[in-house]
Amino acid sequence: MNNETMIAYFSMEIGLSNDIPTYSGGLGVLAGDTIKSSADLEIPIVAVTLISKKGYFSQDIDSGGRQVEHSVDWDPARFMTRLPRKVKVQIEGRAVYIQAWCYKVRSIAGGEIDVFYLDTDVAENTKEDREITAVLYGGDLQYRLKQEIVLGIGGVRMLRALGFHIKKYHMNEGHASLLTLELLLLHKRDVESVWDENWIWDTDKVKDLCVFTTHTPIEAGHDRFSYDLVQKILGEIIPLKVLKRLGGEHDLNMSHLALNLSNYINGVAKKHGEVSKNLFPGYEIHAITNGVHSFTWTCESFKRLYDKYIPSWANEPELLVRSEIIPDEEVWEAHLHAKNDLVDYVKKITDIKMSPDVFTIGFARRFTSYKRADLIFFNLERFLKICEKGKIQIIYSGKAHPKDTPGKDIIRRIVEIAKTINDNVSVVFIKNYNMEIALKLISGVDIWLNTPLRPREASGTSGMKAAHNGVINFSILDGWWIEGHLEGVTGWSIGPKPVESSLIPVNDATDAEDLYYKLETIILPMYYHDRSQWIRMMKNSISKLAYYFNTNRMMRRYVTEAYLR
Ligand SMILES: *Cc1c(COP(=O)(O)O)cnc(C)c1O
Repeated sequence: MNNETMIAYFSMEIGLSNDIPTYSGGLGVLAGDTIKSSADLEIPIVAVTLISKKGYFSQDIDSGGRQVEHSVDWDPARFMTRLPRKVKVQIEGRAVYIQAWCYKVRSIAGGEIDVFYLDTDVAENTKEDREITAVLYGGDLQYRLKQEIVLGIGGVRMLRALGFHIKKYHMNEGHASLLTLELLLLHKRDVESVWDENWIWDTDKVKDLCVFTTHTPIEAGHDRFSYDLVQKILGEIIPLKVLKRLGGEHDLNMSHLALNLSNYINGVAKKHGEVSKNLFPGYEIHAITNGVHSFTWTCESFKRLYDKYIPSWANEPELLVRSEIIPDEEVWEAHLHAKNDLVDYVKKITDIKMSPDVFTIGFARRFTSYKRADLIFFNLERFLKICEKGKIQIIYSGKAHPKDTPGKDIIRRIVEIAKTINDNVSVVFIKNYNMEIALKLISGVDIWLNTPLRPREASGTSGMKAAHNGVINFSILDGWWIEGHLEGVTGWSIGPKPVESSLIPVNDATDAEDLYYKLETIILPMYYHDRSQWIRMMKNSISKLAYYFNTNRMMRRYVTEAYLR
């Protein structure tokens, strides 16, 4: 470990591999891909997150389609090293001790990045405090605030204790924004020389140190804590008056705190940048569109293909722009390979026999209302009519947050519908979605479906993963897809053009109708009767989407536009 000047990347969740279950969805997987690309590019960065020793949760689905949650038990010692260094923070007036586990992310190109997982499960702490870093997004607001104190304040202290000199602190979402308070304390101006007490708080200095990426396009999605709770849990580490000026008059809004103390702020796709400007008027908000780590999200058969025709693609995914040179038969063969693997996996897990010859739709992500996982069943009769013209099978997977009742209801509805239409269409739900299942799905289906309610999909990344495997996107024009979509060339859109930059009324019927229309008249006929056009679109997905929507490109932009400012 060295102590040269570094970037520190803070994220409540990081998803690096299937064995380290400290992620819940896209935010965490993006953080993991960010670190992997940083290792490829040898960017001087370290990452800080929570150990989440009981994970997020592991998901079972009972016969009625109800989600049952179990806590995960995993042993960090199998993958990472526990460091002897401890730091402490004050929580409810008590000292809470924090240790860190160090995991090394190694690039195939040789780069190496440290990820520090903070852990309060140490003997010095009370039983209750030992649980603070146990469950990702678990517990109540009080629990969440304690976790954010450990992450933000504890994280800065740990990096200093380990000897790092940090030049930029990058907050991946608002969960880590308490780190700004620790930085204010560290950079306090000399009291003797000031006449205005506000002057001791060098907000300009802290702003120079901070980068904030927001991921949440709706007001209600941002973490807020009442000042009563803040006083009780955190205490008054800076005067309340000052905190209110930075974090909001009525309650502490973690996004506002980060916005007021960062010199560089960005959304995660162009549209999301615009939406965020409306949400947070008065701030300069940039946009750096997300990506995925190409090597991680390319299945074995496509890796072999790229190695053969586009050597060094993994470190220079831009080269995928040349995928035109791959012969059609070999693209199709690689796809069938991935599809057969998926069909075998589905048989093993669910005992349902799907066919590799049937047009297969994939849908998998967090289950929450705005993602509208069941939109394709909006008009069941109409859907079944379409299935008579060309056979369809659908594979679903995804978890709903334990407290997200509407999200859980959608899972139940899908499982119920699957039973009723069993004779005509095979619909399976694979339980316990994770990164391993994600790779099988995004590479093994024919079409990747995404039907969010606009403009709530800040970016979305699973469609980029699909594109890396020649799987064609069929999605609502929101997030990254607005930038990637060329109708009939890189995939297909669903619903009207995205002209609005704020919430629109729900219009399930219009969106569903467009979905049915394109499925029936364009997509199914092409899949079954014009294979060469289909393969052309698969290749376009690689050469016009994957070459760009990757984290290597994304990280170069963060370096030049955010870190080196
Ligand atoms: C990529 C990924 C996601 C994100 O999916 P979106 O469709 O972008 O929301 C969620 N969960 C897992 C396990 C993933 O790998």
